[in-house]
Amino acid sequence: MTCQTADIIILGGGITGCSLAYELKKKKFSIILLEKETVGAAASGRNGGGVRQQNRVPEELPLAMVAVKTWQQMTQELSIDVEYRQNGNLMLILSEDEIAYYKEAVERQKRAGLEVNFLDGKQVRELVPVLSDSIEIFGGTYCPSDGSANPLLVTKALAEKVRKLGVDMREQESVIGVKEKNGKGPSCTINVKTTKGSYESPMVINSAGVGSGKICKMLGFDLPFEVKRSQILVTKAIPPIIKPFVSHPGGYMRQVLNGNLHLGVNSQPVSGYDIRTDISAFGDTTRRYMALFPFMEHLPVIRSWAGLTYWTPDAYPVVGQAPGLENFYLAAGFSGHGFCLGPGVARVLSQVIAGEKPDVDLGCFSWSRFPPGNA
Ligand SMILES: Cc1cc2nc3c(=O)[nH]c(=O)nc-3n(C[C@H](O)[C@H](O)[C@H](O)COP(=O)(O)OP(=O)(O)OC[C@H]3O[C@@H](n4cnc5c(N)ncnc54)[C@H](O)[C@@H]3O)c2cc1C
Repeated sequence: MTCQTADIIILGGGITGCSLAYELKKKKFSIILLEKETVGAAASGRNGGGVRQQNRVPEELPLAMVAVKTWQQMTQELSIDVEYRQNGNLMLILSEDEIAYYKEAVERQKRAGLEVNFLDGKQVRELVPVLSDSIEIFGGTYCPSDGSANPLLVTKALAEKVRKLGVDMREQESVIGVKEKNGKGPSCTINVKTTKGSYESPMVINSAGVGSGKICKMLGFDLPFEVKRSQILVTKAIPPIIKPFVSHPGGYMRQVLNGNLHLGVNSQPVSGYDIRTDISAFGDTTRRYMALFPFMEHLPVIRSWAGLTYWTPDAYPVVGQAPGLENFYLAAGFSGHGFCLGPGVARVLSQVIAGEKPDVDLGCFSWSRFPPGNA
């Protein structure tokens, strides 16, 4: 069997893999992308669509800000409207105890250069007039340049774009083996075996989402990551009623362009990569939605979905080289918020790979922050 080659092989066709293919192809690298199902089949095509900078850990904020700049540029360069709108992100404060924390967080984020504001209860109600009068709103944090996009549309549009640019996109092809050849030094190449063929490259990037741990294990790295399930309920479409993406303890919601409300519940541990919807997980969250937005009481839910997210112990991703194996990169462990970050990670990692000065330092995302594990 012949072994196919490219400058870089990307494993996984989610928002991260497709964005990496886009950024690296623009830098003239030849690329093969291997996807076990179809692009966007996993979390990237079934998420909440939030593209958010505010309320991130300090390490992640500069990356999220680069991501939003990348989103603005990238979505202009795609030939279809992927419903990316910077309609703002509002975090509701429902307990008096949280006010001091969020005021401090807003100041910290302002110092880092993000335009974000602390709103009092009245200002929050002006922004979202349909909030219940009978619930006390202690305030909110609001970032006007945050927004959302249509997950499947954008991932598919990126894939289409890179195909046209000449990226060799291979779907329905699962990676089943990865090994180093010629030692770990500069002459090392990586051999990738799939269900359909064999590939070899001086550089491989593992952006296979929850599948990335299994791939790392093939090279002897055991990642301390956890799989969780995140879920969304979709209501019947109604006329425009809520503009920003709204988060609250336990969940988040947005009204999409065609009028449906997407109601999300935060990620919860799951076993066995189970992506069936588990309605019991919505109990407290749906009660909170009803209390916050009484108009929803008679609004039919018309569908639901679930997807898997991959969590690192400190809840921010790993982006960088494998310890001791410099031509194998990981871009995974997005801990439930990688839809926003994927294009930014791709922008910065492609700069690192091309030997350019990166827009942000990726040092704090390094793999070596976790104790070495052996598979
Ligand atoms: C319900 C839900 C709501 C969410 N809401 C948000 C949100 O509002 N904002 C936000 O920023 N993030 C959100 N997320 C998280 C976000 O979706 C993910 O962090 C992001 O999509 C990860 O993208 P990725 O490309 O790294 O991985 P994925 O989208 O998981 O893509 C990885 C790809 O690799 C492929 N693959 C796996 N194993 C192999 C293999 N062996 N061989 C070949 N290919 C393989 C998979 O088929 C998959 O297509 C949400 C997630 C869910 C499930």
